[in-house]
Amino acid sequence: MHLIVAEKNISAHRIASILAGKTKVATDKDGGVPVYRFGDTAVIGLRGHVVEIDFEEGYSNWRSTERTPRSLIDARTIKVPTEKKIVQILQKLAKKSSLITIATDFDTEGELIGKEAYELIRQVSREVPVRRARFSAITPDEIRQAFGETTEIDFDLASAGEARQVIDLMWGASLTRFISLAARRGGSNILSVGRVQTPTLAMIVDREKEIEEFVSQQYWQLSLMTEKDGEEIEARHATPRFCDKAEAVRARDRTLPPLIVTEVKEGAKIERAPVPLDTTGFIVAAARLGFSAAGAMRIAEDLYMNGYISYPRTDNTVYPPTLDLGGVLKALSATEFEGEVAWVTTHRRPAPTRGKKTSTDHPPIHPASAATRHSLGEERWKIYELVVRRFLATLSPDARWKTMKVNFRAGEELYTATGGQLTEPGWRKVYPYSTATEYILPPMKVGEQLPIREVTLEEKETQPPARFTQSKLIQKMEELGLGTKSTRHEVIQKLLSRKYIEGNPLRPTLVGRAVTESLERHANTITRPAMTQTLEEHMQQIKEQHRSRDDVVAESRGMLHSVFDQLEPNEQVVGQEIMEQTAEELTLGPCPVCSHDIRIRHMRNQTQFIGCTHYPDCTFNIGLPQAMWGFAVRTDDTCPIHQLHFVRLVRKGSRPWEIGCPLCHQIASNKEALFLMASMTPEIHERMIAAHLYTVTDLAGRDPAQLAPLLGVSGEKAGDLIREAEEVLGLLRRRSDCRKLIRRMLVPRKGRSPASVIKKLQEAGINDIASLGTADPALLKRVGIADKEAESILHEAKMVENERFLKQAGIPAASMKKYFSAGISSPEDFLSSHPVFISDITGISLDTVQKHVSLVAAAKGRPAPVRYTKVQVAKGREELTSLPGFSEEDLRRLWRAGIINGLLLLESDPESLGERTGISPARLRRYQAVLQERAKKAEPDIIVV
Ligand SMILES: [Zn+2]
Ligand SMILES: [Zn+2]
Repeated sequence: MHLIVAEKNISAHRIASILAGKTKVATDKDGGVPVYRFGDTAVIGLRGHVVEIDFEEGYSNWRSTERTPRSLIDARTIKVPTEKKIVQILQKLAKKSSLITIATDFDTEGELIGKEAYELIRQVSREVPVRRARFSAITPDEIRQAFGETTEIDFDLASAGEARQVIDLMWGASLTRFISLAARRGGSNILSVGRVQTPTLAMIVDREKEIEEFVSQQYWQLSLMTEKDGEEIEARHATPRFCDKAEAVRARDRTLPPLIVTEVKEGAKIERAPVPLDTTGFIVAAARLGFSAAGAMRIAEDLYMNGYISYPRTDNTVYPPTLDLGGVLKALSATEFEGEVAWVTTHRRPAPTRGKKTSTDHPPIHPASAATRHSLGEERWKIYELVVRRFLATLSPDARWKTMKVNFRAGEELYTATGGQLTEPGWRKVYPYSTATEYILPPMKVGEQLPIREVTLEEKETQPPARFTQSKLIQKMEELGLGTKSTRHEVIQKLLSRKYIEGNPLRPTLVGRAVTESLERHANTITRPAMTQTLEEHMQQIKEQHRSRDDVVAESRGMLHSVFDQLEPNEQVVGQEIMEQTAEELTLGPCPVCSHDIRIRHMRNQTQFIGCTHYPDCTFNIGLPQAMWGFAVRTDDTCPIHQLHFVRLVRKGSRPWEIGCPLCHQIASNKEALFLMASMTPEIHERMIAAHLYTVTDLAGRDPAQLAPLLGVSGEKAGDLIREAEEVLGLLRRRSDCRKLIRRMLVPRKGRSPASVIKKLQEAGINDIASLGTADPALLKRVGIADKEAESILHEAKMVENERFLKQAGIPAASMKKYFSAGISSPEDFLSSHPVFISDITGISLDTVQKHVSLVAAAKGRPAPVRYTKVQVAKGREELTSLPGFSEEDLRRLWRAGIINGLLLLESDPESLGERTGISPARLRRYQAVLQERAKKAEPDIIVV
């Protein structure tokens, strides 16, 4: 069998249908992984990388004192399968194959993916020949040609890719760990640092600083309006910018009629047709259509895999001689660009345009086959159309302009007017993405005199440099050798998702800035592009076999160690700097009570709340849902009433939860509770807010004499309010415990918020844990909790309720733990087993257990069991275990039923005791017979109780 391994499922499918020709392609789904078969050939698609590199075991604990962040530099790396199913099926197919062809993408990343597949194949088959097919577009011609002339895997190219992987992992992981630990950040809140990411972020931060430090300067511009044959003409003063206002005013005042034409220059201008698209050029062009860099690349890759365009990751801007341009034109004539294609065919320039970069791997991005607007859909069509039109433009003639420049004199002041007119649109006919602005001047002659209609003096100021747009940033990264054509857009995406940068154009967030500035101060190698550029050179050397992968990795290790030499002594300073700078991003605004700042606080155990920075002097705080429902951050909006930043809960993979102004939210959500109080009126509520009292808690436990003047009510009324508040508080506590339990137990799921579940439960009258614990499972199902989840919630509710009951009965927490872990967890458990038994299985002394059981019995209003001393139990035990055939198991069973000695056993009814203990009545009778025998012998100590 011939096995073909493609980079993705979609390209596997396409390659199979091309190679199969007229033969039908059958699709097997092996464990969910499609395999395409025709004749004796099987084609499988990977999912890009199916293995990833990671550190060997033992490095996962961030806080380990032996395995410090620095130790990651020299940690061994291993390859771990990430797509186990695909790996399994690849190996299964490989065992049956007599020939394997790797048909992954043709670039460093693709070669590495191919090598990874090769290694997996070699694990199961040492002999099977493995070939490599290389192509730049998944079109019938390219694919057939590539499979007709297969070559070997380029292990040097793959090694270069591996070197980058290892180096990225070691820089990223060690520095991310170091910085995060220094700034005490963990979980989803870590501060990531990366080899390409950090210098890219630094560029954005530097630009922001330039903008902040920019001091704008005033300048003045002078222009005039004249006219000829009813057409207005604007002319600008020969001095484009006056820095001195007095001078500009003088020039204006000296601009006196008549306006005399002193020179007329006519000329021609050629506007070159655009050059073929490389990745950067493509991203820039797509950005003008409103696509983000990552979005444009995602669509381009999709179009490539479906055979519509050539491979979109390329550094080449020169069509190779082997590319059949005429063939592409012919294919496009079957599209809605038929008219444009016909025009280009008849007006085609002698040679296509060419850019400055030539590389041999891939041609520039060009269309590969015909497509329709209908089959692609709006977004994909826009990108396809761009690629088609750009291709047509590169074959079209240049555009030609007629230009005219007219110089004037008015008094002693010189002015100039310029005009341009498109005479031959050329490529502009097929590439309408930039508009040609024509400014046509009427014909004029030297010596001609014209009127001055208006003289305008405009005051302007110099502008700071612009922030980077995504596409500008990608151009800049390319210039500086940061990242590759395949990774630049991903790096920007990563910075956005890490919340280091935001907006469009891009600006750094407080965290992004804090991390960059701290690194700049203490280890600026990481923030400068030089190190990354060096790596790119080294990768080239690996590809060309001038250096080995290990050699390059070793050098990078050395560099990283010297970075740690700089960083480690400054760990505290770095952490402090970052924490201080980022505190602001959590600060919401003035505390309503004391006017110091209030701030979002994130605790270790998922708890988050808003507290006053003047704690403990001010105890004002606002609760927030647990972090599992979303990590609380502030937004740019502020509340006009409270001057507080809005709060938003963000969770990966779901829409953010907008809390809005936390104080407004607090007031609104407490209003309902306050109005549960019988004496609450809107007027009192308003006075409460004015007095910074927002909740029932703020009323409960107060001194009526102190509250009365605050609310403008009588002391008696204040007393009522306080009493009512305390009652409502009790209800709320029970509800809140119930709510907490549900929030804790409910698994986050789309389309179901814990709030809606809680609301429905409350509507059904379930307000506390006790009633939840005894709720009907059918009811739970109706409110959206079913099966397993309902079972665990009911169980948990019972447990919590039991714990509350037992605590109230007086069982101390330490003992409670021991009881629970021995399975004694409900009041019933305490009363249905005898204390002797409970003491035995929990290890708690008999006296203590008897005391606890009496407490539970009292709380339940039931009689306490008979008490025994340790001596009595020991004696009884001796007596019982001496019975022939009596086992330890029997002893425990009898203890559980409160039978601790021979006499008690003798007095029991074997039938009912048998039922209670599970010991057969026959056996009990046998024991009783022996005991009776002994009693007859009147051995006195048998019957001592
Ligand atoms: Zn305060
Ligand atoms: Zn507010």
